[in-house]
Amino acid sequence: MSIPPPNIVDFEIKETLLCGPGPCNLWPSVREALTKPIISPLCDEYFKALDDIRTGIKYVFQTKSNLVLAISGSGHSGMETVITNLVGPEETLLIANRGIWDERAYNVATRYGIKIIVHRIAHNTTFTLEELERQIEVYRPTALFITHGDSSTGTVQKLEGLGDICHKYGTLLLVDTVVSLGGVPFFMDAWGVDAVYSSTQKALSGPAGISPVAFSARAAEKIKNSKHKTPFYFDITLLAEQWNCYGNTRYYHHTLSPPLVWALRECLRQLSIETLEKSWERHAKTTRHFHERVQRLPLEFFVPNPEHRLATVTTLALPKGYNYDDVIKYVEEKHKITIFPGRGPTADKSLRIGIMGVNSTGAVADALADALADALQALVKSSL
Ligand code: PMP
Repeated sequence: MSIPPPNIVDFEIKETLLCGPGPCNLWPSVREALTKPIISPLCDEYFKALDDIRTGIKYVFQTKSNLVLAISGSGHSGMETVITNLVGPEETLLIANRGIWDERAYNVATRYGIKIIVHRIAHNTTFTLEELERQIEVYRPTALFITHGDSSTGTVQKLEGLGDICHKYGTLLLVDTVVSLGGVPFFMDAWGVDAVYSSTQKALSGPAGISPVAFSARAAEKIKNSKHKTPFYFDITLLAEQWNCYGNTRYYHHTLSPPLVWALRECLRQLSIETLEKSWERHAKTTRHFHERVQRLPLEFFVPNPEHRLATVTTLALPKGYNYDDVIKYVEEKHKITIFPGRGPTADKSLRIGIMGVNSTGAVADALADALADALQALVKSSL
């Protein structure tokens, strides 16, 4: 043996209140669900769990479509599935860019020979439907990619009406709802969204690793008639057979992770019990309260227009003289709350604070506001 066994020493993991842009803490029942037995992928319980997940996903996306399932992988796997199944090489993808997820969509699409048009705006704002229509009218792309909630900037994009605009020009509408689903209203069918993906570790308060996706009838038709090859692992036609989307197949495509299947099922069960309306209301109320508290501190919103602010992630600029890393470290060490620095457009310009899922409560909002106030007071002497 040339490689000896490593001495992997167990260590204690400290738990904090996760108030970055994700991951978020787990619902207690989701934590329990993760320890449910590993079962055979050929038994009735397993089929029932997948069916429950599909029903739950239809509810959270608000769609009657049957092409609804979960991809094994984090949010990026949903992104890659949606893009590669709907846009072939030499076809055009218009990317509405206002943060790093749109950059990621660019990175994914370029790997598959897709032609890309990028339309950019300032990162602290959102697109008007008129400007998006102008771009679609000029470029007539196969699809438009847009992010609903952007966790790198803390903005929420208005989508209502965008589907109709896209369809007028034969364009499909692809939407990232990773950090918005469950926390902000979203209506796949009513808004004419053709493909949507999300993830579990944000407002659904689950573990990352399994990502809901859904495709409209228009998107399903495009996939049926497509000639291009999609990545095997993300081939929605094969996955639809595994997930029994059309009610007559239970094929094996790959081994799903049972703990993640149980966890996603529980996230969706939680949300169904609470109801979407109540969850959206809870997120709006908590964040409104947090923003009211923040307004009394010398912090500035990175997103000036309150209507463009995302309920799940708030981006806040520190006053001059403060160091972002010092504030983040102080809040974590003294208050056991994890917040994140800016990323991409917000790097060194803003904190990213997520209040979502199980953490969307008045108590968490107060704890965060108290921790920030304390950090600003304690650090001012050393850093100014
Ligand atoms: N889209 C958005 C809006 C996100 O916030 C994230 C994760 N922060 C992703 C996509 C990528 O998801 P993941 O890290 O789960 O692959």
